Amino acid sequence: MENAHRRGLEPLTTRFEAGYSIRLSYRCLKICHILWAQTDHTDQTLFFEVLRYAVDISANLAYTHGLMTATPLHTEGIVLRQVPYGNYDQIATLFTHDVGVLALFIKGGSSPRRKAPLTGLTCAEIVYQFGRGDLAFSREVSIKHRYHESWNNYSLFESGAAMAKMLLDSQLPGKTAPQLYALFRLYLERLGSAQCPAAFVASFGLKILKHDGLARNYKSCSSCHDILEHIWAYGGEAFCRDHAPSGAVYNNKEDTELMMTLMHTQSFSELTRTYVGPDIVKTTRLLFEQGLDR
Ligand SMILES: [Zn+2]
Repeated sequence: MENAHRRGLEPLTTRFEAGYSIRLSYRCLKICHILWAQTDHTDQTLFFEVLRYAVDISANLAYTHGLMTATPLHTEGIVLRQVPYGNYDQIATLFTHDVGVLALFIKGGSSPRRKAPLTGLTCAEIVYQFGRGDLAFSREVSIKHRYHESWNNYSLFESGAAMAKMLLDSQLPGKTAPQLYALFRLYLERLGSAQCPAAFVASFGLKILKHDGLARNYKSCSSCHDILEHIWAYGGEAFCRDHAPSGAVYNNKEDTELMMTLMHTQSFSELTRTYVGPDIVKTTRLLFEQGLDR
């Protein structure tokens, strides 16, 4: 222990119990040292008791028996989905600015005593560490904004959830997409002022296809390159009648123009005024699903 203490801030790997390899942070070491100073230095069993206790109270280390990265990371993210884990813990899936989709374990996240729980469509700044797998462990969560707090009708919640689901369906964990993150944040910020929230959902789905390089231009056939008046759309591509794959959706000129507007618009005042009917909602959803399948 004296040696371990001399090594000070350097992380230390200690073996205890049945081959558990424990990397101790300085914080944990410090606790060990304080406790060790109060015990009989000849009793090795007691040393391991002290060590185990120190690991337990150093909560972030305890999650994975200490096998996580030493450096805390920082990012901002929006909760796409959250599920309770055990009685009081929580696993939240966030879309983040720095690392795309991130699964985050929050100790005590669903405890009734928690003053500011992390719920769906909440934007938060997080400090986290990675464990052995893809799951990250939260050290600090500070909530910046709850988009749904100002929403006053069900269709806004439904639309927000639909956009979150599109990200879950299309973005691989850890695939960084800061532009798409910024877009998602803007869409949630402006959703409350939409005359037709479904237009935001349709537009967001098409913009994901565009962002992921799955949308081609809708002016000519992807197969024969003929200029099209009427298109048969499949995924993000357009085809003439002769080259339409099975499952392609027919769009007249008016619908095609509307979908191009939804995909390419940079103007929220335009999007806020845009109305989409059930057919366009259905078509864009189908194009999105086909785009992901390709
Ligand atoms: Zn063709």
